[in-house]
Amino acid sequence: MEYNPQEIEPKWQEYWEKNEFYRAEDFSKKPKIYILVEFPYPSGDGLHVGHCRSYTALDIISRKKRMEGFNVLFPMGWDAFGLPTENYAIKTGVHPSVVTEKNTTIFKQQAKSLGFSFDWSREVNTTDPKYYKWTQWIFLQLFKSGLAYKAKMPINWCPSCKIGLANEEVVDGNCERCGEKVEKREKEQWLLKITKYADRLIEDLDLVDYPEKVKTLQKDWIGKSEGTEFEMPIYIGDSPEPAKEKLEVFTTRIDTVFGMTYVVVSAEHPLVSKITTSENKKEVEKYLKEAKHKMELERLATDKEKTGVFSGSYALNIFNNQKIPIYVSDYVLMTYGTGAIMAVPAHDERDYIFAKKHNLPITEVISPENRKQKTENRLPFIDYGVLVNSGKFTSLKSKEATEKMTEWLKKEKKGGKAIYYKLRDWVFSRQHYWGEPIPMINCPKCASTKDSAQAGWVPVAEEDLPVELPKVEKYQPTDTGESPLANIKNWVNTKCPKCGGAARRETDTMPNWAGSNWYFLRYCDPKNDKTLADKKLLEYWLPVDWYNGGMEHTTLHLLYSRFIYKFLWDIGAIPKKLGSEPYKKRTCHGMVLGEGGIKMSKSKGNVVNPDTVIEEYGADTLRVYEMFMGPFGDAIAWNTKGVMGARRFLEKVWKLSQQFIESKNNRESINEIRKLLHRTIKKVSEDIEAMKFNTAVSSMMEFINAWQKEPTKITRKEIEDYLKILSVFTPHISEELWQRLGNPEGIPTGSYGAGKKSIFLEGWPKYDKKFLKKEVVTLIVQINGKVRDKIEVKADISEKEAKEIALSQEKIKKWIGNREIKKIIFVPGKLINIVI
Ligand SMILES: [Zn+2]
Ligand SMILES: [Zn+2]
Repeated sequence: MEYNPQEIEPKWQEYWEKNEFYRAEDFSKKPKIYILVEFPYPSGDGLHVGHCRSYTALDIISRKKRMEGFNVLFPMGWDAFGLPTENYAIKTGVHPSVVTEKNTTIFKQQAKSLGFSFDWSREVNTTDPKYYKWTQWIFLQLFKSGLAYKAKMPINWCPSCKIGLANEEVVDGNCERCGEKVEKREKEQWLLKITKYADRLIEDLDLVDYPEKVKTLQKDWIGKSEGTEFEMPIYIGDSPEPAKEKLEVFTTRIDTVFGMTYVVVSAEHPLVSKITTSENKKEVEKYLKEAKHKMELERLATDKEKTGVFSGSYALNIFNNQKIPIYVSDYVLMTYGTGAIMAVPAHDERDYIFAKKHNLPITEVISPENRKQKTENRLPFIDYGVLVNSGKFTSLKSKEATEKMTEWLKKEKKGGKAIYYKLRDWVFSRQHYWGEPIPMINCPKCASTKDSAQAGWVPVAEEDLPVELPKVEKYQPTDTGESPLANIKNWVNTKCPKCGGAARRETDTMPNWAGSNWYFLRYCDPKNDKTLADKKLLEYWLPVDWYNGGMEHTTLHLLYSRFIYKFLWDIGAIPKKLGSEPYKKRTCHGMVLGEGGIKMSKSKGNVVNPDTVIEEYGADTLRVYEMFMGPFGDAIAWNTKGVMGARRFLEKVWKLSQQFIESKNNRESINEIRKLLHRTIKKVSEDIEAMKFNTAVSSMMEFINAWQKEPTKITRKEIEDYLKILSVFTPHISEELWQRLGNPEGIPTGSYGAGKKSIFLEGWPKYDKKFLKKEVVTLIVQINGKVRDKIEVKADISEKEAKEIALSQEKIKKWIGNREIKKIIFVPGKLINIVI
């Protein structure tokens, strides 16, 4: 009776599927729990071992919750629109829908071969017209609510391929396809007003259980700054008269305004050419040309050299009437604030570096307030403190000064409070084929009438949804940078739903994120053709109780889908009874790297295919290995030796259980095994909830080692309880051994499969507290509060006994000598303090 996963694994997979063990039941009386993993992009490469890691983890949680009596929703689907499939279609001429179908079939088969307990009856696919009908419907609601609009935006343009590229197709500023340098080109694009939700997206993070890092990343991405905005008169060159234009400056530290020694405007600032004097023109132009090529992140990094040039002009600090030079520099971005800053080198890191480099004066205006600040005081001093050299505001504290200065600006009508965000409206257009068509029609006749919203853009009637993707001959974007849909005349040319006149369909399609924004809603009611999901069902299943995904999706998918959920909640498509947040809890997995710690990639030839591992070692081995490989949140390198170790562990489980079955004996257990089992149940139960899968596995391994030492001293019940906790990690071997064990009520050991219920219909084992108690504890013995000795005693020792033992210790006797004992304090389990 050898352990043969290739034989038992497919058998049980078929059995579980046939008996619909994983079916989530709508409106069940059991408590519900919605467990979600990010649905994959079905690429031609098949499932990655990284997918296996996160899916196994959440599969373990789902299986445990079912055994604990929950009605579990653990669904799966496909995020299938997007570039890799389109590129494959361009290369091979095979229609993307055919490619998608082939790939999803492979993914699904792989997921099944790993024993994942997904409820396949709820499978969704974003490229299915029945699904994207509702993605388009959501777009229409956004448009009707004024949250979708068209505007000219720069896109990435490859001059060699003559196509517009998505950001993810631009690698280090070059075209991913041909390697040519990518240019920016202006194009009309659809945008979504996510900025309108910026405050709520920050504030509502208080309502959810996300890792702190995820919350911080989202807040930083939204980048809310509250500060002060004010205007500065400008003097071109040596002109004694101010120009009619004024420079708007935004700062979060108005309290430092008297320390402003120069002003910086962004390279893209509209006043740059106005303020550049003829003497400085050559240098400024040269600088602007260089700046254009740098990426945004590169420009903002604090450790990068701060470059910039003097414009030749000056600005007036209205607080102290001093004229200061205006510099043009790329460390200020036009997309943030007003694109111009007051530079205070004494109290800002970047300004300080810049001032040192360009020999600009550094004036201190904030002095340290407390001792800690004083001892660490050095320039730049960036903390708040007390104002010095600041005119009538001198000796005020930073906070008070900020209020007074802002008030003064308001009174003088020269400025006031202002709030800026880093978050931009979300570009929602792609000039590609394989995406959801944007259900909008452009009508020239309606555009000319006064009441035309968005210059003639008329939404497709809701009853005409979905706007299906037509068949095309070629999938390449056109020479003009439009999507290939623009070439299909009988699709593009249509009638205006409003006036009936000749009109043109929008040929842009939606980005990948469109379908993944709301897929978790569809799982609640995947086949509904009347609405995106029935409200009663949404009310039953939502919110998602536990959502696991990649850290790389924190500022894209996770933020976008929170926005769309809030919008749907606002318009009543999601019941008001539910909260304003879709995901109660978010966790993140670490990556699985290639052997040696480098990222897996085809070009490096270090990609591990889960199919090969399953063939060689079995799915249970792969599952337990990936849970054991290291802390779940860490990036871990693949290690084949580790896989073999996992397999050996399962072989031990098999052999020991098999020995028991063959001996057909219900034996007595020894105390040690029983106690260890209860400790293991406790540890595994708690570790699963805390996603400490690696330590859960190691405690199950410990148990096996103890059992191996006393192979006959264990009862059937104990083996069964052990198999139950193991079953969520390695379902197949556990079910097989469970069945082979038979049960005491009539089915003899070894009479395999004689109608015994599946292990997954059993309850999760409980541990008994009385077995957890430690038998021996260490007591600290103190004399007058100082540690003088340690003694090992029974855990339940009485006070009297403990005192006697402590006083009888030779060391303690010596310390006490002839002195009188005033009292003895006893803290059970911890210490004895003798006061002399
Ligand atoms: Zn190219
Ligand atoms: Zn019209």
